[in-house]
Amino acid sequence: MSSFPVNERQTVIVHVAVPLPLDAPFSYRVPAPLAPAAAVGRRLLVPFGRRKVTGYVLEVADDDGRELRDVLEFLDDGPLFTPGELALYRWASSYYLHPLGEVIKAALPAGINVQSRRGAGLDEGELTGGRSVKTERVYRAVAEVPDTVPPPGKASELLAHLAEREEESASELRRLFGECSVQLRRLRELGFVEMAEREIYRDPFRMEAVGHDRPLELNERQSAALVRLRAALDAGRFTPFLLRGVTGSGKTEVYLQAIAHCLEQGRSALVLVPEIALTPQLVSRFRRRFRCGVAVLHSGLSDGERFDEWRRIRRGEAAIVIGARSAIFAPLADLGMIVVDEEHEGSYKQGEGFRYNARDMALVRGKMAGACVVLGTATPQVTTWYAVAGGKLECLDLPERVNGLPLPSAEIIDVRGARGHVLHPRLAAEVEANLARGEQTLLFLNRRGFSTWLTCEECGHVLRCPNCQVTLTYHQGRNRHICHYCDYAVPAPSMCPGCGCGRIIHLGLGTEQVEAYVREHFPHARVDRMDRDTTARRGGHARILRKVAERQTDILIGTQMVAKGHDFPGITLVGILSVESTLNIPDYRSAERTFQLVTQLIGRAGRGDDPGRVLIQSLNPDHYALAHAVAGDMDGFYGAELAFRQETGYPPFAHLAALCLSGTAASAVERTSELLAARLRELRRDGGGRVEILGPAPAPLAKLRGRFRRQILLKAAGRTALHRLVCRARESFQPQAGVRLLVDIDPVDLM
Ligand code: ADP
Ligand code: ZN
Repeated sequence: MSSFPVNERQTVIVHVAVPLPLDAPFSYRVPAPLAPAAAVGRRLLVPFGRRKVTGYVLEVADDDGRELRDVLEFLDDGPLFTPGELALYRWASSYYLHPLGEVIKAALPAGINVQSRRGAGLDEGELTGGRSVKTERVYRAVAEVPDTVPPPGKASELLAHLAEREEESASELRRLFGECSVQLRRLRELGFVEMAEREIYRDPFRMEAVGHDRPLELNERQSAALVRLRAALDAGRFTPFLLRGVTGSGKTEVYLQAIAHCLEQGRSALVLVPEIALTPQLVSRFRRRFRCGVAVLHSGLSDGERFDEWRRIRRGEAAIVIGARSAIFAPLADLGMIVVDEEHEGSYKQGEGFRYNARDMALVRGKMAGACVVLGTATPQVTTWYAVAGGKLECLDLPERVNGLPLPSAEIIDVRGARGHVLHPRLAAEVEANLARGEQTLLFLNRRGFSTWLTCEECGHVLRCPNCQVTLTYHQGRNRHICHYCDYAVPAPSMCPGCGCGRIIHLGLGTEQVEAYVREHFPHARVDRMDRDTTARRGGHARILRKVAERQTDILIGTQMVAKGHDFPGITLVGILSVESTLNIPDYRSAERTFQLVTQLIGRAGRGDDPGRVLIQSLNPDHYALAHAVAGDMDGFYGAELAFRQETGYPPFAHLAALCLSGTAASAVERTSELLAARLRELRRDGGGRVEILGPAPAPLAKLRGRFRRQILLKAAGRTALHRLVCRARESFQPQAGVRLLVDIDPVDLM
């Protein structure tokens, strides 16, 4: 289709998606002089109402003489996506019920979209993309040497150097010869040297891969897994796998060797990791192993850096892409393998706007590309496990750590009778003993800040965020109360805003308070804290991890950040101070998340000859998620959890869609949600299929960033009925002015 044959005398029609919340594509006429540029994947400028907007060509067709408006201009040098990529965008648009133009915009790097984001009102002149490309100045020796003698001294050294190589950048010359711009100018004037601008890529991790790293000799279980992956690659068909193994069981080594096989076949590979696990160490392990280009995509990149990586991938200069969620759209050709590491991570789901799930889309993209898809994790999602049981995924197990270290012993401390302690006396004694042995301890708590709750002893007044109605968290360092949802902050009051008395008490433990407690009780310990507050600045993460690795930290206090993707080989004691904040979330996945979190934390302990100990303080010591995690009984947990899901009708036994209505006027939101629910029930009666309609009810976060929120949850055994009902409701329902309707297919977070 991209080679639709046209000549300059013909006009054609293009069907165009615009990045606006509109479902249908629009057609435009392409004037004859522009017609040869018309191709699927081209970005263009079209009139839209009284505005000009950027759009994307979906299809090129013959001009059938219809009355249409003209395309204004084609942007860029060529198409931005292939027909194959368009198929993936179309799938996502129809599955997640999100406008195609917005899907395409989200799939392309922001460096390109800068213009369209600023949108319609721009002059055409501003809309050409060129300035996103970064260049540097390079010098070359001219092939035909002029008749004069080159100047002596530094200039002749420069010339000798340039004659030996094709070209050299100005910065490199400066590094080798010191300041030399005068000499270079003189050489240019005399005709010995010429100057050019060369396009350069910004390196997101600004580092060289040092040395080369050979494949390791695999152990028996790794070999068995690799054999299966190679066979799947050789078959060249879509084959999905679960690679199950704890941290340190050698999963990454298996990915690396399977990818090597994939590259030998001339195909490319995509590795998805949670944002937080995308570290320079991981990237450098790939760069040392492979001589082909490795591109990196993550949210820390500037728009320019992201655009550079995207162009390298598009040009085939990188056969491996490592990236977070949005890398699922990386423009790799001939994709042979997709790895989704830590497949259970919630961060694969985009939480706002186009709410896709990169883990799920990996299976779709893999199917379209005929690729092998590997989901890796120690703690598969309940739905993934169910798919294995149903024969839809093949499970490859790596049951042991490569170093042969057994998993640590884990135990639950019942703290119901001992409330008010930060550390239960038993845990405190273990920390003391570990310190005395000179060993490292990790204390985990899922809440940052000092205290998560302030209340007046006199009148019971609770400090809440005016925008979100959640309690404010006290941050001692800044002496402020802060909302963790919208960043609203107020100085700490010295008296109760409710009754004016001075008896405000702190409830709800946060990491800052644990740090204060630990510093007070273990004054000789070197203490560090890892949470969103201490890692906000670039490099904060790496610094904390390095200090732990170099044993400059005795006790590390951390939030879920420490449970994800990091290895702490020196830590022999893990104390989990509370899991209640995860366990008590009003969400059908709270048990699953707790099980995953505790299992992941257990997997972080142990070193050398000491397998380590894990102690868990809990107010719900008998909860099955905790009991099975502590016993290391995966099958037991999945069995119990699947029974619960079946009974309550949640995934994998039902498919879900959440319809969230929000607005600044509570009454309008309430009324609209009632009307929508009524409309849904009506449609269901008229043959909308077997869909359960729950609500409307206030969302667990009933007010967020100043907007009131209500939800309708839809459940159905079959996806088709669910999709059909949501589509029909959207087509025939217009929310009241000021109320926004969001559709979330397969929601992972029902907050
Ligand atoms: P995972 O991805 O499951 O955490 P890795 O592949 O990173 O596991 O392996 C953990 C550690 O063990 C790494 O330091 C890795 O280099 C090493 N390793 C992995 N496989 C082997 C092997 N077959 N022989 C020796 N060392 C290995
Ligand atoms: Zn708030």
